[in-house]
Amino acid sequence: MIFSQITAAPADPILGLTEAFKADPRTDKVNLGVGIYKDEAGQTPVLKSVKLAEAKLLEEEKTKSYLGIEGVALYNQAVQQLLFGKDSAIIAAGRAVTAQAPGGTGSLRVAAEFVLSNTDSKTIWISNPTWANHKNIFETAGLEIKEYSYYQAETHDLDFDAMMTDLQQASEGDLVLLHGCCHNPTGIDLNINQWQQVAKLCAEKGLVPLFDFAYQGFGTGIEEDAQGLRAVAAMVPELLVANSFSKNFGLYNERIGAVTLVAKDSECAARAFSQVKRTIRANYSNPPAHGAMIVSTILNDGELNALWQQELTEMRQRIASMRTLFVESLKAEGVDRDFSFISRQNGMFSFSGLNKEQVARLKDEFGVYIVGSGRISVAGMTKTNMPVICKAIAKVL
Ligand code: PLP
Repeated sequence: MIFSQITAAPADPILGLTEAFKADPRTDKVNLGVGIYKDEAGQTPVLKSVKLAEAKLLEEEKTKSYLGIEGVALYNQAVQQLLFGKDSAIIAAGRAVTAQAPGGTGSLRVAAEFVLSNTDSKTIWISNPTWANHKNIFETAGLEIKEYSYYQAETHDLDFDAMMTDLQQASEGDLVLLHGCCHNPTGIDLNINQWQQVAKLCAEKGLVPLFDFAYQGFGTGIEEDAQGLRAVAAMVPELLVANSFSKNFGLYNERIGAVTLVAKDSECAARAFSQVKRTIRANYSNPPAHGAMIVSTILNDGELNALWQQELTEMRQRIASMRTLFVESLKAEGVDRDFSFISRQNGMFSFSGLNKEQVARLKDEFGVYIVGSGRISVAGMTKTNMPVICKAIAKVL
């Protein structure tokens, strides 16, 4: 017998919260844990652009035969254009290679395993704090994890000097995980000047950036949100990107993302790509088609693309309006503490500064579920649940 010795795994800090939420019988409960976009009615509907693309696919799809290891070619091309821009010199030079992969998570895992199996790099630097699954993914893949400073609790802002000081300690070949935009969990991003300084440091020290790009379009816009990635890509010879369409296309359960590698030249990129494909082959052989076909259909059709961009803008603007309403509603509930920093943060999340005890009271006494770190999914707030949330926070402060 081999199974009886196994100890139970702890619940996932984010997905475990959803399980607890589902089991909670209270009718006015609110789930602000997991990063899922909700509309004003509290629903996560399929985007109209996605429905139209699916209708087209249903009509036109001719086979369910296997995709190649790297997935849908037109999809991979469209991904590169979103990442680096349509007129990118990197794309024109053939320095970028892309493989479709199962969501941002699958892309990160493929990137990590590829690096470990094919290079001398064994270490990845991640921000403190970061998305809870980063440690999990990279440790399981076998990378050694080191942390760089990112957040300053007193100012609710980026501690850029500390970040740079820590990254000075990194060695040549180390990976540096960077959130492309909408840093999870803090919602605080680098400005363009800071991106350029990070790029310069990586170039000088031979560090290899690994961009986690899960929220393109949720910050200030599709092109604007890529400015950090493009600034870094312009200055370093090599980098990796793991991007996801879970959030910006609302394709959470289709598991669709991509891993992109940029090398110093096209010959080097092609050689490295053969090993990325080998990593994929050993994991899941080849990716599922549906999510990639949806994204590719939308991005390669003028009208569908315009509709998607409009829907993405609506999601982004609704979240921004919830940030403002949240700050105003807390004030209206008589909360003295300054929460104005929340309206300066980007993306789905707000790093509230609430401590573990306050988070526990929110859940136990008021049925308001947020992550233990104090991270709140603003994307789950609506005009309807806002009073419940703000009254509860006012009580636990
Ligand atoms: N990276 C970050 C920073 C995220 O917040 C998430 C999802 O929450 C992911 C990656 C994973 O996305 P996916 O669901 O596509 O695997």
